[in-house]
Amino acid sequence: MKDTAMKALVDHWVRPEIRAISAYHVADARGLIKLDAMENPYSLPDELRQAWAGLLSGLDINRYPDPQANALKERLRSTMAIPADMSLLLGNGSDEIIQMIVMALAGPGRTVLSVEPGFVMYRMIATFCGVKYVGVPLRAEDFSLDTEAVLQAMEEQNPAVIFLAYPNNPTGNLFDEGDLLRLIEAAPGLVVIDEAYAPFTDASFLNRLGQYDNLVVMRTLSKMGLAGLRLGYLAGPAAWLDEFDKVRMPYNINVLTQASADFALSHRQEFDRQTTAIRFDRQVLFDALSERDGITPYPSQANFILTRVPKGQAGTLFEAMKQQAVLIKKLDGSHPLLADCLRLTVGTPEENAACLRALTSAL
Ligand SMILES: *Cc1c(COP(=O)(O)O)cnc(C)c1O
Repeated sequence: MKDTAMKALVDHWVRPEIRAISAYHVADARGLIKLDAMENPYSLPDELRQAWAGLLSGLDINRYPDPQANALKERLRSTMAIPADMSLLLGNGSDEIIQMIVMALAGPGRTVLSVEPGFVMYRMIATFCGVKYVGVPLRAEDFSLDTEAVLQAMEEQNPAVIFLAYPNNPTGNLFDEGDLLRLIEAAPGLVVIDEAYAPFTDASFLNRLGQYDNLVVMRTLSKMGLAGLRLGYLAGPAAWLDEFDKVRMPYNINVLTQASADFALSHRQEFDRQTTAIRFDRQVLFDALSERDGITPYPSQANFILTRVPKGQAGTLFEAMKQQAVLIKKLDGSHPLLADCLRLTVGTPEENAACLRALTSAL
């Protein structure tokens, strides 16, 4: 009785669009080879771990963190080649930056636009903020941009912001640079180029910052090998970033993250070694997948490979691989263009071999 009353109360007050969605699902990976979430499989070498632990032991966790995280910003500027005339905004993961941008731009009649299949947080955060979301389908053959369709959607929807992941998740491809420039030029509002996978490609829009009034570039340390720290950054003109900074929670980057990320970036070569190895192993994995009958891997500039499997088998293959202790991501069912698709994160050579063995025996 009490429960029904409470349910009615909750249903009355929680917005219908929030009640309609399910919470972001993270699979239980205990005991499994984890190739589902684009994590870097390598950890820090022992001597660096020791130095890091020493650094952490000296921190004052009774004090609030530097609200501007100035030391970390300086480190990011120097290690990530942020153009000197651009501002930086930090987020608790780039997810939080997406949230800040959409909160600042949300309002009656406002629209967030992206392409699909794409990164699900753009849609989710638009929903959280109560703004309309429009996802324009990519081309079915190769997941390239349907530029005319995006231009038309921009015309019809007048979006406040367009999010484009470069390379795209979950498809792994880079969109054509010329197409993106056309979209940036035609966009009525802000364009966010999301370079979460920057460590795995040579392409970037970072040095185009300043050429367009409506361009900002977002990145994260997650895929590089620091997913546990939760640090994303946005580079762009101060005119935009100063406004987004107003909706940022004052101490969003905690003491441990500020110090740890600064330390990690001061050893950037170690991460470069790791991501270079992952790029090499991506090709090895791609070639091996290509040789399997009925398996179609899509070329990737990220640290994962989208793979199409024989019709109707994605679910059984996913489960059979899990039985063999390999956790990947099943995308079949999440979007019509992803029918029969699985996504494999590139792990260590041993993990990739185990993944291939599991897939082969499952087939
Ligand atoms: C993983 C991912 C992010 C989110 O990264 P965090 O910094 O860990 O929040 C953002 N964009 C894309 C396209 C991603 O794949």
